[in-house]
Amino acid sequence: MKSNGHDAGKETTTEPRESLNFIEQIIEEDLKTGKWDGRVHTRFPPEPNGYLHIGHAKSICLNFGLANKYHGKCNLRFDDTNPSKEEQEYVDAIKTDVRWLGFDWEDREFFASDYFDQLHDWAVELIKAGKAFVCDLSFDEMREHRGTLTEPGTESPHRNRSVAENLDLFARMKAGEFPNGSRTLRAKIDMAHPNVNLRDPVMYRIMHATHHRTGDKWCIYPMYDYTHGESDSLERITHSICTLEFENHRPLYDWFCDALGIYHPQQIEFARLNLTYTMMSKRRLLELVTEKIVNGWDDPRMPTISGLRRRGYTPAAVREFCQRIGVTKFDGVTDIALLDHCLRDDLNAHAPRAMAVLKPLRVVIENYPAGESEECEGAVNPQDPSAGTRKIPISRVIYIEQDDFMEDPPKKFFRLGPGREVRLRNAFFVTCTGFTKDDSGEVTEIRCTYDPQTRGGSAPDGRKVKGTIHWVSAEHAVDAEVRLYNHLFTKENPDDVEEDQDWRSNLNPDSLEVLTGCKLEPSLAGAQPGTQYQFERLGYFCVDLDSTDARPIFNRTITLRDSWAKVAEKK
Ligand code: ATP
Ligand code: MG
Repeated sequence: MKSNGHDAGKETTTEPRESLNFIEQIIEEDLKTGKWDGRVHTRFPPEPNGYLHIGHAKSICLNFGLANKYHGKCNLRFDDTNPSKEEQEYVDAIKTDVRWLGFDWEDREFFASDYFDQLHDWAVELIKAGKAFVCDLSFDEMREHRGTLTEPGTESPHRNRSVAENLDLFARMKAGEFPNGSRTLRAKIDMAHPNVNLRDPVMYRIMHATHHRTGDKWCIYPMYDYTHGESDSLERITHSICTLEFENHRPLYDWFCDALGIYHPQQIEFARLNLTYTMMSKRRLLELVTEKIVNGWDDPRMPTISGLRRRGYTPAAVREFCQRIGVTKFDGVTDIALLDHCLRDDLNAHAPRAMAVLKPLRVVIENYPAGESEECEGAVNPQDPSAGTRKIPISRVIYIEQDDFMEDPPKKFFRLGPGREVRLRNAFFVTCTGFTKDDSGEVTEIRCTYDPQTRGGSAPDGRKVKGTIHWVSAEHAVDAEVRLYNHLFTKENPDDVEEDQDWRSNLNPDSLEVLTGCKLEPSLAGAQPGTQYQFERLGYFCVDLDSTDARPIFNRTITLRDSWAKVAEKK
């Protein structure tokens, strides 16, 4: 099959697979020295305050991938310490997405909220040890006391309360005696510490809110920094892998473990994934959903795992992408063309082929007998001969793409025009003998003759045609809606905006084009939601979740052209 020309350049310039990334190097060193008794135990710790996105996929593939590679374990832990933003819906979606990516946490599904009692008891221990105190400053006042990167902070006036007073106040915070924000429990570290995260950070805040799991049991909630390392410790995590922005929280992670004298995992930071044309902040993604700029978290334009799935991306392609980008310590932006390339590679190998005409133009084959039809044969997947062949009926009236005909074509246009001959893919040659237009000058119908001698795709007299076009038999066609998706943003960096504008000004008005009245070859009747196909010459398409037999809907996953393969070829 020569028609799409995208098979070239499969080898791209990425790290050789056998070289270890810096985290693997740490792990292998630890295995050598017996640091963790030969154990590798990681975790993926999402906060259930939104749906997972492709950036999370990097973290999932990394954490579960390392566990698989080193015969270790990876926990799924919900970091659910903020009841105001967290919901069961997100918990369920996260589990679906991690499973879909192909990973299994077995019975190790944990919630930070399961540790609230233990975290509370440890906080009491720190108070008793003189390492934590109840502070009456508001969050604004605390910010003022914090100092800056160059100036030390000032100590809270409540810093030197007695242990007894702190224990009493903390108990009353827990009992619900005080309103939101009126008091906090803070670690007593050093207000002059060069790392501002160690300037008496807040451990607990008062929040009278119902938690999606603990209900109304608590009205004080632990902060991320106080919760995370302790949760890792309780689960006996060995390598606690997080993104670079937590690098300067690591001293605090270490401080809490040491102050409590508990099992102490090693925090390791790596660079988060950033992708061109993609926004990955959960807050922004939530805005896209709540402002109805997209149709929900699983809109196929979203970078969410559920959006990618609905769009037709495969778990194998996402995993391959995560493998190829590797893990580093340096922030950068990855070209989305690499993700597309991984996707095309996988779909090319696995997606069955079909013919579909998205913008139909009627063609009458004048010398084909009316009322008759025949079955042509096409490969299900030329990349995989074992997939066999499919039957495609043809008859006197067919549809071709409007784009495949020009009334007055230039020389290099190798498709149909008056007097020109082309091959109908999987069928025979046709020659255009005429066309009709409506009052507005639009071409409404083409007339052709076919050469019965060219069945099978070549002419016995050796004459060649330059073009091959796809088609669908009118009487056999399945009508469908096809949704064409493009980047959601017009700029590589969606945050690149003029001063008086925000990211919304970079939204692509053409990110979705809905086509109705598309014509599909009959083998696509009854295709199940989630199934992927290659529509020959057009791209990869996937049956939408809402598709039914009565109203088939296909999403364009991606076009055929692979710019990444070309980039890699040139290198
Ligand atoms: P926020 O904390 O602002 O809600 P988040 O993206 O950090 O957003 P989490 O649910 O805390 O969301 O993330 C879970 C895990 O996924 C964390 O370990 C985080 O470091 C990792 N992660 C999040 N975004 C990316 C990304 N773009 N690339 C790689 N890993 C990521
Ligand atoms: Mg986070």
